Parts: sequence; structure tokens; C-alpha cells
Amino acid sequence: MEDRQQSMKQNTSHSPVFRDKLELVQDRIESACDLYGRGQDEVSLLAVSKTKPIELIEQFYALGQRQFGENYLQEALLKIAALSEPTIQWHYIGAIQSNKTRPIAEHFDWVHTVSSLKVAKRLNDQRPESASPLNVLIQVNIDREDSKSGVLPEDTDALIDATREMGQLNLRGLMVIPKKSKDLDLIRDSFARTRLLQESIANRYCLAQFNQLSMGMSEDLELAIAEGATIIRIGSALFGPRDA
Ligand SMILES: *Cc1c(COP(=O)(O)O)cnc(C)c1O
Repeated sequence: MEDRQQSMKQNTSHSPVFRDKLELVQDRIESACDLYGRGQDEVSLLAVSKTKPIELIEQFYALGQRQFGENYLQEALLKIAALSEPTIQWHYIGAIQSNKTRPIAEHFDWVHTVSSLKVAKRLNDQRPESASPLNVLIQVNIDREDSKSGVLPEDTDALIDATREMGQLNLRGLMVIPKKSKDLDLIRDSFARTRLLQESIANRYCLAQFNQLSMGMSEDLELAIAEGATIIRIGSALFGPRDA
């Protein structure tokens, strides 16, 4: 009885809507891991909270979510300042202007969108010495779209060569946003090519920690898990649709 009262109390402390959404996403991850022979502990859920208020981040924090992703620097810095829980991990997943690297180097744990030597250098120089090296993913323009940022697949080696010795960066893997398509095979193929590239880099450069694949969003997380995603970036399936 006491247990039941306890859990009812917990139930009222945060919105059941968000608990349901989180459980739904966790169920999708679990099903995809079962189907494709992945371990659930190999896939981490990054909650993409861009444009959403701090109160919603707190709701998901109360439900146990710890990794949050933000795209817009000013907005992100306000949220980071307001939420000082030491166990929150902040991931920067937006476009990087090279004159705005300092706050990224100072306030984030991960950056998913490094695609130039200039930005990598600045992040390395600006990462405080007291902090652990910044976890860096290289964004790859896997489908060679004019509209997308990221390095072209054939240019990733050069960027790895130039950044691998940077002491305040920890090169962790690749990030990708595949070309929009109704053809799920095409999307899955983009994920598969990203995985091959990541494996090839990890082997040839002997980078033991270059083992992360940030890929998969609300609509295609299953395909990404099928092809080896280790971080899935989920916004609307958790927080609801964003205003245009
Ligand atoms: C917004 C965004 C997401 C989340 O997209 P959803 O479709 O809402 O899950 C993931 N990755 C990046 C880079 C984004 O900008």
C-alpha cells in the first residue's frame, strides 16, 4: 500500500504525457534492438530539446533522461545556465559559426557538427584546460547534398589527419543526416555507408574511441539502429511537434 501511494505520488510529480512519450520511444528502441541484434546498452537516446522550454527538459530529467541536444547557441546557453544538475550532458548539434566556438567549447560535453579544420582548431584551443577533452563527432554530408553541411566522405581522412593529435578534442565518431526520401532503403543505405566509413577510419587510424555513430531521428530511428547507430537524436517524438 505504501509502495502504491509512493508511486502515485511520483506519478503526479510530472506529466504522464511525457512519460508516455518517453516510454514509446524506449519501446521503439527496444524493439529495433531485438529485431536487428543490437544490445540496448549500445544505443543512447539524445533528447533534442531545441525550441522547447526549460520546464519540459526538467520533466524528462525527472523521468531519468540525462542527454540533451540543442541546435541554437543562445537558447542553449540560457538553458545550460538554468539547469545546473551535474549529471546532465549537453550535446551541441547545430550549425557552428566559427566566431562562436568559445561558448561551445566551454559549456558542452559533446559536439556533433564539426566539419572544418578551422572550427576543430578553435574548439581545441578554447576548451578549458580544467575540463575533460570535448567529445567530437564529425558531420558527414553522406548524400552529397548542396543544402547540407558536413564534410564529403572522401574528405574525412584529411580532417581526421589534421585533428587526431589535438589534445583537448576526443574524436568519437561520425554524425549524419541522410537525404530526405520516402524510400526507406535509400535512407538505410545512407546509414550503412556512414557505418562503413566510421569503421574504416577507426581501423586505419587506430582510434579506439572512434566508435560512435550519431544517426537516426524521430522518423527513422529503427533504420539507424539496424545500421549501427549508437546515439539517436530524438526531438518531436518526445517533445511533440515544433512550431515552424
Ligand atoms: C531537430 C533535429 C533532430 C530531431 O529531429 P526530430 O525529427 O524532431 O526527431 C535531430 N538531429 C538534428 C541535427 C536536428 O536538428
